[in-house]
Amino acid sequence: MENKKELRNWLDAHQLEHPLVIAGPCSAETEQQVLKIAHELKDSDVSYLRAGIWKPRTRPGNFEGVGAIGLKWLQRAKEETGLLTATEVANKAHVDLALEHDVDMLWIGARSTVSPFIVQEIADALKGTDKVVLVKNPVNPDLALWLGGIERLHSANINKLGVIHRGFSTYEKTKYRNIPEWQIAVELQSKFPDLPLICDPSHITGKRDMILDVSQTALDLNFDGLMIETHIDPDNAWSDAAQQVTPAALIQIMKDLKIRKVMD
Ligand code: PEP
Ligand code: MN
Repeated sequence: MENKKELRNWLDAHQLEHPLVIAGPCSAETEQQVLKIAHELKDSDVSYLRAGIWKPRTRPGNFEGVGAIGLKWLQRAKEETGLLTATEVANKAHVDLALEHDVDMLWIGARSTVSPFIVQEIADALKGTDKVVLVKNPVNPDLALWLGGIERLHSANINKLGVIHRGFSTYEKTKYRNIPEWQIAVELQSKFPDLPLICDPSHITGKRDMILDVSQTALDLNFDGLMIETHIDPDNAWSDAAQQVTPAALIQIMKDLKIRKVMD
């Protein structure tokens, strides 16, 4: 696969730095929240502003996202700050709306990667687009399911394809929210050395004070980028409050990381 080269060329064309940094709130909550975060990240190492618009909550009754209106907020954030935008898509309707609103990067969430039908529906809806598409690992530690997701998108001619490692569910109580099982990501890396590999330390740790360490481990393992949930008021976030960091904390994490060139 030529994916890493493609991504590399495209990063160079946009004069973006390595590692690739994607940051922003777990969920878009209000227009003002999205814009404030975007402005605070504007002059940092962040290339992409992420925000979940449709939120796949494990249990019903929690905040399920603002819906399509949030795409307008992302568009405005891009216009005002120049940050590229990223959101999660989980079906064809999401893909169509995200493309209509010119979202730059789409990712498939961990609860969607487990379903070949959903991944195929998304792949079909994305055929012929030039967007960056990232596939999160499935919630369960099943490399084949993750590879299957990648293969479905690759077959749909998605060239700017990458993966996100966000850890795996476990019934056991551990210090992680989702155990990293780094060996699974490393095995994927050895099977697809050209596929950009992004770490999501926010969902691995579930706790903001562990994010630096997990990010450092990922970079030491030659990951190509980081996706870190960032919120102006993390404690009062409408989803994933304990794991989000402020824009100032994110900027500090980037300073504290020992970064070496991860691509040739
Ligand atoms: C998210 O990125 O906010 C999210 C829901 O992640 P995951 O699919 O990894 O649980
Ligand atoms: Mn989240």
